Amino acid sequence: MAMQKQQLTVVVRVRPLNSGEKSRKAFQCVFPLDKKVPRTSLSKKLNLFSFKRVLLVDPEKFENNILRQNRQHERKFEFDASFGATSNQEDVHETTTGPIIDSVVEGFNATVFAYGATGSGKTFTMIGTKDRPGLMTLMTKTLYEKLDNQYQVLLSYMEIYNEIIRDLLNPSGGDLELLEDERGNIRVPETTKFVNYRDSKLTRLLKDSLGGTAKTCMIAHVTPSSSNFEETYNTLMYASRAMNI
Ligand code: ADP
Repeated sequence: MAMQKQQLTVVVRVRPLNSGEKSRKAFQCVFPLDKKVPRTSLSKKLNLFSFKRVLLVDPEKFENNILRQNRQHERKFEFDASFGATSNQEDVHETTTGPIIDSVVEGFNATVFAYGATGSGKTFTMIGTKDRPGLMTLMTKTLYEKLDNQYQVLLSYMEIYNEIIRDLLNPSGGDLELLEDERGNIRVPETTKFVNYRDSKLTRLLKDSLGGTAKTCMIAHVTPSSSNFEETYNTLMYASRAMNI
């Protein structure tokens, strides 16, 4: 099945090890694996590939075992794609928001969802820098190249942190709450409600994205650093559970 026809695409991005981590003698414990698969027919022509699997090594058991003879402390996770330190913003866009935009142009709702611990690279992926613009820029550019002016586009951009929802298009506007209407649709109203605490806000906010016909792309972010092993393990477990939805 072509990636853009799936309802949910799950990818993982591993950012480069930074100088602080290196100076603290942390080392890389997450590796996009070298089983290369062609991404799209265009990429095939260009001879571009992405990795599908991620290898996580328990740093406590690693002990500079360069030959990695003791493999029982390794764990492999498989995703639709994974991106390592050599991947750039366009690589991620081509596999995630690029195909999502094709669905949006066809009339589907879509959600792009950056997941991961603080410092794992979510803002870098979504916003990026002036020299390396992130998915927000790349996807809006792609979207407006593909649309003519007969469309109305609705876009929201929000953050959930410790169960608090913040409108990133209006960051000073205070916390947002979720509203579930009588038909079970989840909305973020302008003023606060009926609040149903059965599920986490993330689960409820994604309810329509993971149910119906909407296309959703989850970009899980991890650091490669041995000092973040626990968080990385949790993020990869969460993302691989999402793969099974
Ligand atoms: P988060 O939003 O998840 O808290 P950030 O996006 O702020 O994390 O990333 C933490 C730091 O790592 C920032 O200094 C950011 O520029 C850098 N960084 C993150 N991802 C990458 C990447 N793929 N390549 C280079 N630097 C990155």
